[in-house]
Amino acid sequence: MRIAIIGFGAAAIGFIERIKNTKHEIHIFEKSKDIYSSSISGIRADGKLFVSNEMGGNIDVDMDLQKQLVNYYIDKTEDKKYEKGSSFAKKEYYNKFYEKGFQPIHSDFYHIGTDQLKKVLYSIYEDFKNLKNIHFHFEAPILDIEPIANTVILNNKDSFDMVVVAVGRSGHKLVKNVIGKFPELITDNTQVDLGIRYELPDHIVEELNREMYEFKVKYKSKTGYMVRTFCNNPSGFVVTENYDDFVTVNGHSKLKEKSKNTNFAILTTVQLTQPFNDPIGFGSHIAKLTNLLAGENKVILQTYNNFKSSKRTKHLYRVFPTLEKDKYILGDINLAYPRRIAESIIDFIENLNEVVPGVANDDNLLYAPEIKFYSNRLHNDHFDNLKFIGDCSGATRSIIYATAHGWMMAEKIIKI
Ligand SMILES: Cc1cc2nc3c(=O)[nH]c(=O)nc-3n(C[C@H](O)[C@H](O)[C@H](O)COP(=O)(O)OP(=O)(O)OC[C@H]3O[C@@H](n4cnc5c(N)ncnc54)[C@H](O)[C@@H]3O)c2cc1C
Repeated sequence: MRIAIIGFGAAAIGFIERIKNTKHEIHIFEKSKDIYSSSISGIRADGKLFVSNEMGGNIDVDMDLQKQLVNYYIDKTEDKKYEKGSSFAKKEYYNKFYEKGFQPIHSDFYHIGTDQLKKVLYSIYEDFKNLKNIHFHFEAPILDIEPIANTVILNNKDSFDMVVVAVGRSGHKLVKNVIGKFPELITDNTQVDLGIRYELPDHIVEELNREMYEFKVKYKSKTGYMVRTFCNNPSGFVVTENYDDFVTVNGHSKLKEKSKNTNFAILTTVQLTQPFNDPIGFGSHIAKLTNLLAGENKVILQTYNNFKSSKRTKHLYRVFPTLEKDKYILGDINLAYPRRIAESIIDFIENLNEVVPGVANDDNLLYAPEIKFYSNRLHNDHFDNLKFIGDCSGATRSIIYATAHGWMMAEKIIKI
């Protein structure tokens, strides 16, 4: 078959790796200029690879396959160096959190680090591009997909026997275009995770960082909302993330360069019901309002004490931001965030402080907006020759799950 894959991210990598030694002719269309400017969002940003059946997406991925894919990425690093951890492997920690109402999440993870990722992506590309049946097309954004009988037409010109869409979350415009034409593809779209990025001195969470590197917990707050930690970065850095028309915060850490602070996201899962059907709109409006208060392309920074009492922060005390100075303004997040979200976050931090004293210190820092968008969950059996893999399908949210989704889709196609 002549197969087109749109996007060269984690899901595409899994797909191509599984299908590369078959007779299928594979064409990859990537909107980035070349491999150097190509961005597998997570792989470029931090590269924490998780092995878990409790997080990463809404599909079942065999643990052996997850581990195999982790090894695949590690093999592509220059010197095979990485940091490793296991969250809640020790019963003692599990019990400590459980006792205070938290749901600890089990996972193993392998941190490659932002600095090594360029090389990983490049060597994967080199490996694929030397194969006769694999054809890369850079600077080739796909704007339109038209399934017609046994073929699928891309951008009104190229036709393929099968098209696999792997555009991640950054490809939401293309997915929106497709579901505009075929709304029956959507199975679910009601969720958005809205919260803040929290930053505090390493020594407060030193023991947890040492023990498990990334601690992941969920907590049912007094507001009824589920709150969770996400993306912990020991000795890391806070960064901004640019979307088309707003800016959010994120965090990352490097293998070599270290700061003195740890940052992690505290996210509230907002699951709204009918007639609501636009979680991306909900999250974007709050992000834009936060940016409006902070000034163009900036985020709001506030101390925990001021956040609790809804006062604008004017001075910092012992904790200083790792985010570059021209990217934030000291302010009051409460002016942009719904009360129920702010209360959920405070309830979470106060309770976490019971397990990890110092987490609720007055001078710890909050950055907003931190938002995790979920793509619409799409049907993959509606068309025989048009499939969606990775984050754009709504089924995955991590590098390993997206890669595995691609791998499993290729396996199905090989069997056809
Ligand atoms: C800042 C950040 C940090 C993250 N850190 C981690 C982490 O440490 N660990 C982890 O497990 N997960 C992490 N994630 C999540 C992880 O990156 C994703 O779950 C994963 O990359 C999804 O893979 P994907 O193939 O679906 O999409 P992506 O990896 O995003 O790849 C999509 C590709 O499609 C291309 N594309 C988009 N639209 C088009 C179009 N119209 N035409 C052609 N090409 C197009 C894009 O340029 C991109 O190359 C992070 C995400 C972000 C945003």
